[in-house]
Amino acid sequence: MLVPIFTLKLNHKINPRMVAVGKYDGTHPCLTAATQAGKVFIHNPHTRSQRFSAQRLVQSSQDSDVTLLNINQSVSCLTAGVLDPQLGYDALVVGTQTNLLAYDVHNNSDLFYKEVTGDNVRSLALCDFDGDGKKELLVGSEDFDIRVFKEDEIVAEMTETETITALCPMYASRFGYALSNGTVGVYDRTARYWRIKSKNLAMSIHAFDLNSDGVCELITGWSNGKIDARSDRTGEVIFKDNFSSSVAGVVEGDYRMDGSPQLVVCSIDGEVRGYLPSSQEAAGSLMDTSVEQELVRELSHKKQNLLLELKNYQENSKQAESRVQVSESDGHMGVIPANTQLQTALSVSQGSDTHPAHVELSISTSNDTIIRAVLIFAEGIFEGESHVVHPSAQHLTGRVRVPICPPKDVPVDLHIKAFVGYRSSVQFHVFELTRQLPRFSMYVLSNPASTPEPPSYVTFTISERVQRVVLWLNQNFLLPEDTDTQSAPFPVSFTCLRSAGPLVISVKPNGQVSLRTDDMDLAGDIIQSLAAFLAIEDLHVEADFPKYFEKLRKVLVQVDESHSVHQKLTADMADQSNMVRSMLVQAEDARLMRDMGNMKKRYTELYDLNRDLINCYKIRCNNHMELLNSLRGVNQAIQRAGRLRVGKPKAQVITACRDAIRSNNVNALFRIMRVGAMSS
Ligand code: CA
Ligand code: CA
Repeated sequence: MLVPIFTLKLNHKINPRMVAVGKYDGTHPCLTAATQAGKVFIHNPHTRSQRFSAQRLVQSSQDSDVTLLNINQSVSCLTAGVLDPQLGYDALVVGTQTNLLAYDVHNNSDLFYKEVTGDNVRSLALCDFDGDGKKELLVGSEDFDIRVFKEDEIVAEMTETETITALCPMYASRFGYALSNGTVGVYDRTARYWRIKSKNLAMSIHAFDLNSDGVCELITGWSNGKIDARSDRTGEVIFKDNFSSSVAGVVEGDYRMDGSPQLVVCSIDGEVRGYLPSSQEAAGSLMDTSVEQELVRELSHKKQNLLLELKNYQENSKQAESRVQVSESDGHMGVIPANTQLQTALSVSQGSDTHPAHVELSISTSNDTIIRAVLIFAEGIFEGESHVVHPSAQHLTGRVRVPICPPKDVPVDLHIKAFVGYRSSVQFHVFELTRQLPRFSMYVLSNPASTPEPPSYVTFTISERVQRVVLWLNQNFLLPEDTDTQSAPFPVSFTCLRSAGPLVISVKPNGQVSLRTDDMDLAGDIIQSLAAFLAIEDLHVEADFPKYFEKLRKVLVQVDESHSVHQKLTADMADQSNMVRSMLVQAEDARLMRDMGNMKKRYTELYDLNRDLINCYKIRCNNHMELLNSLRGVNQAIQRAGRLRVGKPKAQVITACRDAIRSNNVNALFRIMRVGAMSS
């Protein structure tokens, strides 16, 4: 067993996810964390004689080893690391809602203080994703995506089912991730190795080789105070421990200064524990789990299950023998016919007044057996990821229909377990199978003649046979079984079950493809899906989304207005501040002259001016928030325009759009979004 080699109790409440270790003098690692009161504490047990004196840093009155850094604003993130290699020591970087501070703790001075604006990025990590020896930037977003950047080009995108709250490099192209719904797991490049889901939230993840086998485990600190170390390959727990409150951060540092780094875990109540990796000799025996013991346990578990199964079969065959004598109508007992099959079918249901439109999963048996219950496991579709259907006794039949409404256009594996038997059965045969829900399952085929043609479209040309596109269509949409897919069905029209918006896909014999939809995201998804299926590396696309572009034009006008309002307000406030100063002088002069009448008058004016200033500040604040929202909208539009393209044209469109924004060339921006960037 692994026990902490040190424990500390700091008298400070620690903000979750805001914990780092920095060597601010280049030598001594200091645990650093944000507290709830807008302060950052730095725990430095190594150099007690050192006292800080300047403005930001003050000694804590509660812990002698702790110095406090006043931020005077609630802290939203924090990290430590080498900012300037020439300095030779770590800088502390603290982010708030509006500012970023880089701080030289050693010299007690600001390195820089900048106004910054937040975006929908929630997690970052550096990892050599493509194995070329250079690290790529992994970005986890609020909109469920993990994006991989090489320079400023997105080279891969993985869609998850929730906000990505944490990312950490493991080794080579492998990295860990955590979601806001209690999921943690490991990816190798774009493929997910394993994942687990807890009802608790993963507060912090970190890669650390705890059993000294040369490979990092994924260490997770949970909201219920648990920490666990999981094998990078299987997700199996090899070590766990418990804190009395939620874990705030998992970091590492050589806290004892003896050359071997420890895993350092701290809780929101300020409890800190350091763990040293188990010694080489004891490696593998962390949880008392030697390979042999593990195998014996696994085999005896299997044995138990087989014995139980055998017993059930014996019971059933006994009953089957006695049943031969009784009449057929008496019903069957547990045994179902050997040729019983479980059939599944997916179809699109338009819905009715009582039931909204959905995808219907129909599960049925091939004979007179009934389905007692169905269990479905699927990521991102059901609350808690699982769904159970168990009809009441009078409604037991050989068919169960399950409505499914995938919230996003991503392919989902449905893992189905069905309990099949007879009405009187006590034991049931369990069928297990997996069906994949196609990516665009929420689109129902509609009559082209009665489908209104959307004014928005994208067009591009492919050098593939039309039949290949038909194949893609079959794999990615739920087409009715009687659809004739031998002949080219184009144009083909769909209606979205979520928005009721139309989608028309047509392919001409010369390879010209056109998609008509007002949903720019859908157009992007279809282009990405089709390009991946046909292995197209670069795709140039022309597009027009009149309604969306008109909205974007208004947003750009809004950005301009917000900018000029900002300038005017800033100037006004500067004027008023000057007036405050002169009024104060006048009021004080009046007081010294004992001219109480004038003094009172000046202070009343001052009071009014102060109120105006506060109002002005509120207006400026609202204006700033509006500006941020508009800028976010513009950025989203650029990403959307990029997603309509593939490969080089995609990167070119994004770069060119950004250039157009920078040079304030609105017409160029829309031209690029429509026809793509001119390849230079
Ligand atoms: Ca790389
Ligand atoms: Ca290990």
